[in-house]
Parts: sequence; structure tokens; C-alpha cells
Amino acid sequence: MTYKHFETQAVRIAESASNQREHSAPIYLSSSFTFESAEEARQMFSEEIQGNIYSRYANPNTSDLIAKVCAAEGTETGVTTASGMAAMFGSMAALLSQGDHVLASRSLFGSTHQLLTRVFPKWGISHTYGDISEINNWERLITPKTRMIFIETPSNPGLEIIDLEFIAKLANAHNLILVVDNCFATPYLQQPAKWGAHIVTHSATKFIDGQGRVLGGLILGEKKYIDDVQFFMRHTGPSLSPFNAWVLAKSMETLAVRMDRHCENALKIAEYFQDSVDLEFVKYPFLASHPQYHLAKKQMKHGGGIITLTIKGGLERAKRFIDELQMITVTANLGDSRSIITHPASTTHSKLSEEERERVGILNGLVRLSVGLEHVDDIVMDIERALERSR
Ligand SMILES: *Cc1c(COP(=O)(O)O)cnc(C)c1O
Repeated sequence: MTYKHFETQAVRIAESASNQREHSAPIYLSSSFTFESAEEARQMFSEEIQGNIYSRYANPNTSDLIAKVCAAEGTETGVTTASGMAAMFGSMAALLSQGDHVLASRSLFGSTHQLLTRVFPKWGISHTYGDISEINNWERLITPKTRMIFIETPSNPGLEIIDLEFIAKLANAHNLILVVDNCFATPYLQQPAKWGAHIVTHSATKFIDGQGRVLGGLILGEKKYIDDVQFFMRHTGPSLSPFNAWVLAKSMETLAVRMDRHCENALKIAEYFQDSVDLEFVKYPFLASHPQYHLAKKQMKHGGGIITLTIKGGLERAKRFIDELQMITVTANLGDSRSIITHPASTTHSKLSEEERERVGILNGLVRLSVGLEHVDDIVMDIERALERSR
């Protein structure tokens, strides 16, 4: 059965039913599954028939999660992974070979940046970073060895937006695989595959879980690519645990209502503080002052749950501000029901050089606010008080 609407699909699509007629999906804590006969075992291993073999390959809970997220993203099939980084790594490692080149956005999650600059060069896979502000020149960065374009939109933490339609056309014109890390938007706000992305990756740890409980990742896309990814993941082993898959599949059922509230709160907070005398700049994709506001409106349903605040007074004041917060949590995660503040320059993006950070707008006074599901007035009050006390 298929359903027309995102919300219904997220709630009703389920692949994990047992024969116990349970209403809520059970957790299949089983490392392996049994065969009726030696012949059935042979058929499953040779993929003549489909079925559960071993939880490193597939498990009813991971299949459930894949079905729900594929319906949401409009992708054909997918693979679950132990963390978001396993998904970023797997999407590249499975589809690239020695000598290949990746054209990547300079604005990437810190660890994805580390993969490209410090891990893949060991195997002869090179990269070039393109600046989002010069995206019209990216075609010139493509070499005969380029195989893949890897981007994040909105980016973490700079909230830069890449035109998915434009970049998919560029990728197709040059026969390149376009991979989009859709972690910040979630499939509820943006579906990169609908604009032409070949692979969509997720850190499910963030908004998909939404309550800071588990790690998880997903690699989704056309079967012709996912078959190779699945082979790579099955035999290298960064599998998602059935328990985490169960948590994440349950979370998918509430993604739409949670994202509506995250985004509603975020827009109100961004509007409230946009003219604050304590701030250099408030960045939020659905604020008219965002440099790519129209593009954000074109490809996103709402502006997302993340805002950046650049505090006047640089690093020292940003630290004082963080220390003065009474409710908002200081932690490195995001996409939680609890509002979170992070100072990227000294934490998640500290491995980048100061120059690299400046090029992607991660200034020392910038803090990343992941807007939670508390009442918006309480979040505003906490920020306002901390700004005053940090003066
Ligand atoms: C957190 C994050 C990741 C990594 O995900 P983990 O689940 O922490 O491994 C990748 N990309 C983006 C944009 C992220 O925010």
C-alpha cells in the first residue's frame, strides 16, 4: 500500500511485522535468521530469493527504517549505517576508486572535511573544494578524473544553500555522481533526489532521531548505485543496530510534526534577534537577509531548525554568552527536542585552520543554535538574558 502524503507514509509504511499481530513494531534483536532448508540458504546467499540472513546484511528493523526514509525522500532503495559518518564514508568509499577525484563543497561537516583531506588521499582519491559563492565556476573545477560531486545544503554550520537543480544538471552533464548530505533539512523540508541527486546521505543522529538518543546514518538512492554501496557496507561492517533502527523508525513517524515546530520556533527567534544590538548577524535560511533566501524558499518547505548568531565581541564574548545560558544546553549535537548551543570554531570545526574556517564563514564569534521544542518564549528569554549578561 502506498499513500499520497508524507505524514501518512511516515506513520503507516512498515516492513517489520511479525506473525504476532503487534500494532507497534517489535525489535528484532537477533544476529541471524534461520533457513527452512539447505536449499533455501543457498538461494538466499545467491540472492535468488530475498530474505533476512544476518543482521550485518539486513534486519527487519533496518528494512523498516529504509522503507520509511525512502518514501520520504522519494528514493528507490537504501542502506542503514552505524552513524552519519559511516554513511558519508560509505557513499564515497563504495563508489570511488584509486585515482578518482571528488569535487566537494568547501562548506562541509568537520568530519566529512577530514575524510576528504586526511583519509581518502591515503588511497589516491583526491578532491577540490568549491566555494558556494562561486558556484557558477564549479564547472571549471571538474577534471577528467572527477567522478563525484559531494555537497551539503544547508551547510553545517554556515547555513549556505546550494541550488540543487543547478548542481544536479552540472553533475549529469559531466556524468558525475551527485551526493547530497541532507542532514540539516531532513526529507520533510527538502528532497534532493527530486532535483536530480543520485545519492542522499543522512546523519539520522540529528533531526531524524530528534531526541539525542542514538547514532545512525543512511545512504539512499537509485538501485544501480546502492547495489555497490550495499556490497561495500555488508562486507566492511558498519551496520546499524536493530535497536537504533527501531528508535529511528519510530522517530520518522513524528518527523513532520517535530520539524514544523522546530522551524516555527526558529523563524520566530531569528526574527526576534535579527536587529539585536548585541549581534553582528543572524543567519537563517528563511530570513530575507539570508544571501540565498530566494533559493532556500525554492527548494525548502521551511527554513530548518538551525540558526547562527554572530556575537559582537568575538571569541571571549561568545564564550561568556554560552556560559550565561541557563536553559539551553552546551553540547555538540543538534536536532534535539532540547535547544542546544555550540561554538563550532572551538569544537566541531576546530580541526580546520582559521583560514579554512573564515572561508566558510565560521567566525570566532559565531554560535550555532539548534532550536528545540521548548516554548519559543522560554528560548528567547534565555538567549536575551545571556546576551545582556555577557556585555
Ligand atoms: C552530525 C553530522 C554528520 C555526522 O553524523 P554522525 O551521526 O555524528 O556520525 C554528518 N553531516 C552533518 C551535516 C552532520 O551535522
